[in-house]
Amino acid sequence: MSINQQGASVHFNNDNFAVLGAYMHTPIRGQVEHVDRALFVIDGAGVIRDILEPDSPAFGQLSAEAKNAGRLTELGQNQYLLPGLIDLHVHAPQFPQLGTAMHISLDQWLQEYVFPLEARYADRHLAKHVYNLLVDTLLANGTTTALYFATVHLEGSRILAEVCFEKGQRAVVGKVSMDHPDQCPDFYRDKTTQEGLESVAEFVESVRSIRGNNKGLVCPAITPRFIPSCTDEMLLGLGAMAQDQKCYIQTHCSESDWEHSHVLNRFGKSDAESLAGFGLMTDSTILAHSNFISDADMMLIKTAESAIAHCPLSNIYFSNAVFPARRALEKGLTVGLGTDISGGASPSLLVNCQMAVNMSRLLEEGVDPSLPPEKRGIANSRISFREAFWMATAGGGLALNKKIGVLKPGYCFDAIVVDLNVPESNIQTWPEVDRPEDLLQKIIFNATRTNITKVWVDGQTVVETP
Ligand SMILES: [Zn+2]
Repeated sequence: MSINQQGASVHFNNDNFAVLGAYMHTPIRGQVEHVDRALFVIDGAGVIRDILEPDSPAFGQLSAEAKNAGRLTELGQNQYLLPGLIDLHVHAPQFPQLGTAMHISLDQWLQEYVFPLEARYADRHLAKHVYNLLVDTLLANGTTTALYFATVHLEGSRILAEVCFEKGQRAVVGKVSMDHPDQCPDFYRDKTTQEGLESVAEFVESVRSIRGNNKGLVCPAITPRFIPSCTDEMLLGLGAMAQDQKCYIQTHCSESDWEHSHVLNRFGKSDAESLAGFGLMTDSTILAHSNFISDADMMLIKTAESAIAHCPLSNIYFSNAVFPARRALEKGLTVGLGTDISGGASPSLLVNCQMAVNMSRLLEEGVDPSLPPEKRGIANSRISFREAFWMATAGGGLALNKKIGVLKPGYCFDAIVVDLNVPESNIQTWPEVDRPEDLLQKIIFNATRTNITKVWVDGQTVVETP
């Protein structure tokens, strides 16, 4: 038994443990905090109980005790502890077509590629096979939390939630609602609005009652695919259910020219205004994309305390525009990042950090060389790598109202080890030249899953490379 910094006793046993090494995170947007050496004490509930630096009186004693108890993970030179990555937008069933079908518009892509593929998940064996591969892939890429769209099928959607739980990934999973006969093919939609609503209610109940899921590691989300694919009756019913069941809500918002115009033509108002009218804009709503939102939409989203899942790689192919991330952040909106598998062709959130920076630079500089520089882009649009990493971690945590994405006491220990020593690493370090935050920048721009050697979720080891 020993006394830590706050005076509480710590005894290392089979439940709790400690991690010793360097860490980096972005608790404040735009700022990197880098600490060379610290001891993390993680309690039996998977929560960071304390972070001690070497000048703390208890540092030496607790490090030794954890080591003697066989409960210490010690990081070496060029190994960094970072918060786990939070992917706010994934279409799980689309994983088999990742990296294909990027040549057509959003509406055509949905009808010709996405809906026929998603319809196949009536087959539970396919669902189990693909979802196992996907969750393994995302965890290996450092994604400790993911917000998933499944399909319209109740059984297949349940399987996705169960796979996340079994593999220990923190997840929010939605059974997709889509009942509009004009926009959804006969072979892939809710048979009736009523039946669709009833199966969502059953799905919510079944995720919450997964055996062992008492802490809500996996949560259900109300998931209208997007306004075009739902009838008014469905949207109203889902809004009422979200309020009644206190559920997350996820959907797409003002994604492309076609989708944004479709909603304007149908309701005479924007996606954001329409969603709010149906009761689908709450402090637990995550809106994917939102490229075409106006200043008034931004105010609406901010006032509702909803969040945006910015999917920069996907936007290049399917959105006809660049999301104004700088403008949204400066207005105080909560913005996280999403891969949008398979609209985005990479499962890596680090790649999407990089793309968020790249896209903001294109927005600022413009791309048409025939225009004079002052007319080519939109001034003050760039975001930094620090802000991109904040969106991929702390921003995601705020979007989900969960204590994740930051490494500090009281937060869940969802974390990754990035090892720059691995033989296949693309990253070189220059100890006499690199400033501490340069290492985070190098990780964002050049780390791959090879560099991610250990992943914890809720204090449990979910990935460990030999
Ligand atoms: Zn999407």
